[in-house]
Amino acid sequence: MTAVQSSAEDRGGELARRPRRRVLSGRPRLLVVYVPAVVAVHLGLTVAALAGTALRVNDLLTFAALLACGAVCIEATRRLGMPAGVARDLLSSWWLPVALLLPPVYALLMPVPLQALLQFRVRRTLVYRRVLVASAYGIAGACASAVFHMVVPHPLDGTPQWALHAWPGIPAAVACAALFTVVNTALVAVAARAANPESRWREVLWNRESLLLDVVDLCVGVLVTVSSSLTLGMLLLALPPVVLLQRSLMHQQLQAAARTDAKTGLLNAAAWQREADTELSRAHRSDDPLALLLIDIDHFKRVNDTHGHLVGDQVLVGVASTLCHQLRDYDVVGRFGGEEFVVLLPGTDTVEACRVAERLRGRVRRLAVPAEEGTVTVTVSVGVSLFRTHGQDLIELLTAADLALYRAKASGRDRVCLPAVDGPEPSGS
Ligand code: GH3
Ligand code: MG
Ligand code: MG
Repeated sequence: MTAVQSSAEDRGGELARRPRRRVLSGRPRLLVVYVPAVVAVHLGLTVAALAGTALRVNDLLTFAALLACGAVCIEATRRLGMPAGVARDLLSSWWLPVALLLPPVYALLMPVPLQALLQFRVRRTLVYRRVLVASAYGIAGACASAVFHMVVPHPLDGTPQWALHAWPGIPAAVACAALFTVVNTALVAVAARAANPESRWREVLWNRESLLLDVVDLCVGVLVTVSSSLTLGMLLLALPPVVLLQRSLMHQQLQAAARTDAKTGLLNAAAWQREADTELSRAHRSDDPLALLLIDIDHFKRVNDTHGHLVGDQVLVGVASTLCHQLRDYDVVGRFGGEEFVVLLPGTDTVEACRVAERLRGRVRRLAVPAEEGTVTVTVSVGVSLFRTHGQDLIELLTAADLALYRAKASGRDRVCLPAVDGPEPSGS
């Protein structure tokens, strides 16, 4: 069977032969311009703020205490690990007090040591991504800091009246925390969209889960800000609950990551199989039809050989997102391994399955992934199998779809095939 193939070994050999590439080379052009621009703004603001800020002992102490809390939080969750890709944390609980209580320069500096700690102690991720996230946090923190200091000029001086009276300090803190979230999300979302032009703005900007987390972040951040402005000792009370929240958040994300293919965001083979089994049991109980598509990118090795693995990866991401956008919410889409995808279509008969497969084939053909030498286009071959007609269980259906895929490849690629000509065989390219 071609499904569930390990690509690690063949990739390893090719990567070893390939010369080392620059951090952003092979990425979409917009990303190559955008990331350095954001980092340059962050650097420029930091240098200007350092030159224009008088260092005060009280500020330095507060900064050191909040930085230490952030570091403790990271160390306390380190053993749990961190999911690959974009992971959420509760470190805003410490960025926010730094941004609101201290001059903007501290908000610009704070993300640098904490992101370095995450990179070297928790999970090594793409350097450009880490640097961009640090700069986005820095710029967002500086914006929130500058605005808050206009409303409350010296939040740490004397008895912090702003924290004891409801108006205007607390609403201003909440508004600035929201500003921090909006600026940070926008800066990161532009990069996410530039990295994957196929994605929709709504997807990269927010979903219900991330919005809920933003609200929790904001509430905890404002609470820590108010309490630590009264006395720094309050941080000792704030630290344990924040660490606990952070640990449960990581645990939840790791569970989700265990189901997901890190490169494409689709279900991985094991999770797809579990979900497909559930759908199959449902189809057994009802009289509903069900179809399975096995989709394999044609001559994908050539894409890697010509443009490099990074562009190859972008193609995989593009194909995955094209599939997702063309399917219904309850269709089960997974990456089965390498450049092979699998889709289960509940309630779908032969004619409809072939129609969907043709649509997917057509959409993938239109996909253009940017590369250094212009754009890359690919085609796919699709094998279709039908529940009851070609098999009663998942293994039989996968075997039949694999046979159909073999037929599609053998008869010229870029086409949709059934296992045998026993139904309306769709046309090829
Ligand atoms: P065919 O049309 O017959 O399917 O040809 P093909 O080149 O697509 O198939 P083949 O199995 O010869 O090559 C698949 C290639 O996919 C080889 C492997 O290096 C590459 N590959 C597998 N996983 C990944 C990945 O995660 N990223 C990238 N960039 N390449 C991968
Ligand atoms: Mg292939
Ligand atoms: Mg293959």
